[in-house]
Amino acid sequence: MGTPQTALPITNQYGFYEIRMESIGGLGANLSGKILGELGALYLGYNSSNFASYGSEKKGTPVKSFIRWCDPTQEIRMNSPVEKPHLLGLFHERLAGKVPVMAGVDKDSIVVVNTELGVDEMRDRLKMHAGTLVCVDALNIAIEAKTRINMVMLGAMAKASGFIPLETLKQVVIDTIGDRYPKALPGNLEGLERGYAETQSKFFEDDGKYPYQEYTEVKREWGYDNAPIGGVNPHFGSMISNDLTATREGFIPVFKKEACINCGMCDTTCPDMVYQFVMGEYKGKPSMVNLGPDYHHCKGCLRCVEACPTDALTVGIEREHEDTILKVHVRNKDLIVDKMDFEDAGVSGWVDSESIYNKI
Ligand code: SF4
Ligand code: SF4
Repeated sequence: MGTPQTALPITNQYGFYEIRMESIGGLGANLSGKILGELGALYLGYNSSNFASYGSEKKGTPVKSFIRWCDPTQEIRMNSPVEKPHLLGLFHERLAGKVPVMAGVDKDSIVVVNTELGVDEMRDRLKMHAGTLVCVDALNIAIEAKTRINMVMLGAMAKASGFIPLETLKQVVIDTIGDRYPKALPGNLEGLERGYAETQSKFFEDDGKYPYQEYTEVKREWGYDNAPIGGVNPHFGSMISNDLTATREGFIPVFKKEACINCGMCDTTCPDMVYQFVMGEYKGKPSMVNLGPDYHHCKGCLRCVEACPTDALTVGIEREHEDTILKVHVRNKDLIVDKMDFEDAGVSGWVDSESIYNKI
């Protein structure tokens, strides 16, 4: 048991300083939670705990990470989610409205958001009740520094907290992931520094503009007593039903139709059935023709770009295309269904579709 470098600036009725991160699988919130957990216990002298909650997919599903710090004289015997965060990290602005990310935020909360918007516009987007709002363009900084969004967010959260020293945070990153990924270390450290330096913040009173949002546990549609037999997800196309826009880390595959030879390598490679092929004609012969991607389902892994044998697919910065291809992309009508109740689809819904398994 050591002596903390700095006393915690604020604690709740149980003696805890509590941090919550709201993210999408793939943006690195889980690793950030582990880093903050280690930072608290091994570097700042607090007692510390951390755990995360996430889905079965590696990318694309909502992720929450929770951290509790307290004085080293106190034990942590609480493992429930952080309902009223002192510090909240929101890794993607598009989470707002889809997931109740602002639950439990009050005047003592500090909310750090990855966005290119200013604080006033962002408050309205988030419908933030009260507290301090901190905006940082983590996506752009991450692209420029060749690092991940989570490093920039950690730097910004350290600054916003008012008591997490940047140098100590950098040391944790050097000690924990510097050995494993030495080539990425300069970019990671630059991301931390720029996240720390490039924030704008504003305190909002409880002015009655937006109501306080109570924290409620997410209710899962399926549990042990009603999940389909064998655990098979019978929804048509599984992840295809999701909007994976928020999963992308600033890059998209850009499709150039005139360079496409309709080889289908992108379709074979893509894990989310993004490419739209229809029967048509290529070089005067009947052929399946690539109409292009449905970005609604694209998580930005860029495997298709690697697989494409021509320059029909290239890597593009998403923000540079927001007013062009992202607005006119091809939606996959076949896979959009209004109602996704598994009773409608039936447990063999996927196999009964035009799946190849039906023809074997
Ligand atoms: S980047 Fe390419 S492979 Fe990855 S999800 Fe998007 S379309 Fe599919
Ligand atoms: S891999 Fe490239 S060339 Fe082949 S169908 Fe896809 S976009 Fe066209």
